[in-house]
Amino acid sequence: MKIVDRIRNHKTLSFEVFPPKSDKPIEPLLETLEQLNALSPDFISCTYGAMGSNKGRNLEVVSKIQTDGVCDALSHYTCVGNSREDVACALKEYAAAGVENLLALRGDFPAGAVRTHGDFSHANDLISFIRSQTDQFCIAAACYPEKHLLADSFEKDLEALKRKQDSGASFLITQLCFSAEAYLRFRDRARSGGIHLPIIVGILPLLKKDGLVRMTLSNGCSIPAEVSALVGRYGENEESFRSAGQSYTVELVQRFLREGADGIHLYTLNHYSDVADIVLAAGLRSRP
Ligand code: FAD
Repeated sequence: MKIVDRIRNHKTLSFEVFPPKSDKPIEPLLETLEQLNALSPDFISCTYGAMGSNKGRNLEVVSKIQTDGVCDALSHYTCVGNSREDVACALKEYAAAGVENLLALRGDFPAGAVRTHGDFSHANDLISFIRSQTDQFCIAAACYPEKHLLADSFEKDLEALKRKQDSGASFLITQLCFSAEAYLRFRDRARSGGIHLPIIVGILPLLKKDGLVRMTLSNGCSIPAEVSALVGRYGENEESFRSAGQSYTVELVQRFLREGADGIHLYTLNHYSDVADIVLAAGLRSRP
């Protein structure tokens, strides 16, 4: 099913996982997928070459999500290293695996690279190309409540986002965001700028101090004062931090939904139990 049709009916719940590297076993992830499926998500997305890595077993993972038949697979796909022919070939592979949903991205550059080394420089070019090849896919795009870290200005980033909408994206997923206020400001500006696509909010469960610092730095999002206070109060005690972070994440999820977010997308980092605790405590699902 196309995810945009699900979004028309209800606020979605979804998860992001990353694939194992090509030479690593897939079984641990398969177990996590089974557990995540028990929470009846609308879709599960699988990254592609995230943080400049290679694409790993992306196709295998999305095929498995799709054939499990519990929810839809959303495959991330990037411009990095991909020619027109590569994209056309990948579209055929995804279609053959029954995958109907793609998140079209520019992609993270591998260390030292400053361009995509492919035929497309930006996500909007990739989206236009996919649309020129087939209308088989529902295409999502990324958006940045606190602007993309390399964008010259918020306005320029919104113009880039509008180009993704005009090229044929059907919905948006945000970069991780710990601040409901930042999201609301972004959404207001996007709507005034003519961006009408549904916006699903991407949330990184706040579970580890080091992970929080690493992810916010690499993704260019801010740490609100309430989160800094949690780090100050509980940062030296892993268990206390995890518990306080979970509560913060639950409140954030509920706030985003009250404020009208079209869905919640949890970055699981391939972990199940903390994510399940958050989903249940936020009242998104009842115990499987
Ligand atoms: P673009 O939309 O191309 O934007 C990149 C930058 O260029 C922005 O600063 C933008 O303002 C500017 N820009 C955009 N279009 C133009 C244009 N036509 N002309 C000039 N400037 C322009 N990375 C991975 O490698 N693999 C993944 O699986 C992955 N998953 C992600 C999932 C989500 C939900 C998000 C939010 C990000 C993900 N990323 C992933 C990271 C993403 O690839 C990086 O943030 C990347 O730097 C930008 O991708 P984009 O698709 O937003 O690029």
